[in-house]
Amino acid sequence: MDEEIEKIGKVRKLIVAKHGKEIQKKIDVVGAIKCPYCKGDIYYGMANSINGHIHAFCENGCVDWVE
Ligand SMILES: [Zn+2]
Repeated sequence: MDEEIEKIGKVRKLIVAKHGKEIQKKIDVVGAIKCPYCKGDIYYGMANSINGHIHAFCENGCVDWVE
């Protein structure tokens, strides 16, 4: 469980780091990044126009969360 929280924290940072501009301008984002754990794809969405909450999941299940 702690390991899962750690994984989410790391992936969340990657997504936030990639979209500083959109966060600042409150533009919603959907996209994909490479999973740092399995090298698969992580698909995500970020509701910057509302509250900045992120949902994301790895195609191989390494992370999967909704805020
Ligand atoms: Zn993965």
